[in-house]
Amino acid sequence: MESALVKDNPLLLPLNKEKTIYDGFITVQERDFRLRILLPPDRQVKQARLHCCWQLKHLLHGYEHIVKQRQQQSPDLVTFILELKTVLEVGLKSRHECRSIPPPQYYAQLISEMETLGWGKLLFIDTEFRTLRLKAEDSSRRQHILNIKLKPKHPVEAPECSADLPVPLAMTWTPQSTLEQLHGQFLLLLESLTEFWDVLDEIDSKTWILEPEKPSRSDTMRRIAIGNNTSIKVEVDPRHPQMLPECCLLGAEHVVTPLRNKLNANMHLWNPDSSVLHNLRDVLEIEFPSPATHEKSSFSVECGICYSYRLEDAIPDQVCNDPRCGQPFHQACLYEWLRALPSSRQSFNIVFGECPYCSKPITVKMAAQKS
Ligand SMILES: [Zn+2]
Ligand SMILES: [Zn+2]
Repeated sequence: MESALVKDNPLLLPLNKEKTIYDGFITVQERDFRLRILLPPDRQVKQARLHCCWQLKHLLHGYEHIVKQRQQQSPDLVTFILELKTVLEVGLKSRHECRSIPPPQYYAQLISEMETLGWGKLLFIDTEFRTLRLKAEDSSRRQHILNIKLKPKHPVEAPECSADLPVPLAMTWTPQSTLEQLHGQFLLLLESLTEFWDVLDEIDSKTWILEPEKPSRSDTMRRIAIGNNTSIKVEVDPRHPQMLPECCLLGAEHVVTPLRNKLNANMHLWNPDSSVLHNLRDVLEIEFPSPATHEKSSFSVECGICYSYRLEDAIPDQVCNDPRCGQPFHQACLYEWLRALPSSRQSFNIVFGECPYCSKPITVKMAAQKS
């Protein structure tokens, strides 16, 4: 916990070796606020006392009950600090927005820009006329959304833009720029990514995707089902989508090893003029199970410990290597299970134990801590 706290909040450090007094700064929107946290000897966050600098106190004014509530609900200090940051961000934002109501010419400017762009492209505008959502269609008829947050000094100040893209959205803006030009830049960027989305759309429609659960346009990773609790994780480069992607085979060793050997042996056959899915088929010498040939349920085998498929965001990706067993588990479930057994032993972050199903040796790495 301490290392996570120090990593996320390098300015907040324990003052004593019991780690019951933390002192330093909390950073919110590039501003540092002095903060001291006193924990009881059992280091329960519920009982912690906060000493805030006056700016912090001022900012938290009216939010005290929320802070108290978050404190009661946070299992540890790291979680609580993150919660506190969120509350502070909301506080800073609302104070900032009250101060800045745009002048009348702002609205006139906005309406004239929207007229040039075409009202048909407007999907949404908020009641303050500050946040806009514009729609855009790429040449493959995929629909995209450009989120725009206008500054009170628009168009002198550049608007904030965001979109569901696998690359950073870098927009050029000068005081003479307009929403139409912004939309034009967005369309150009979309065109540069059509090949990437073509590659992924083909994979999504012709294979069973285990992860992400609902891929968005910014997701570059796909975990594709191969069968027998085996899958391949590919990371497609949005700028070079047809090139050999980063691949990682997951599953029991006796299934994965021959596939990995084929991948290594056939890698040179990768043809950048052909699609990623075709290349993967050729290189691995397999047919991927597809929605046309298989039910998804045959790949979403539940964890042998908690009997569910999805655990938070994780799917059972630890597989018993015994060919007759092959039972999948969630990493977190298997780790907790093995750690609780006296016969298991741990070396660094790896636990060695026995498969709960077949009692053959099995190992698991410590589950990554969620921050
Ligand atoms: Zn589980
Ligand atoms: Zn087993």
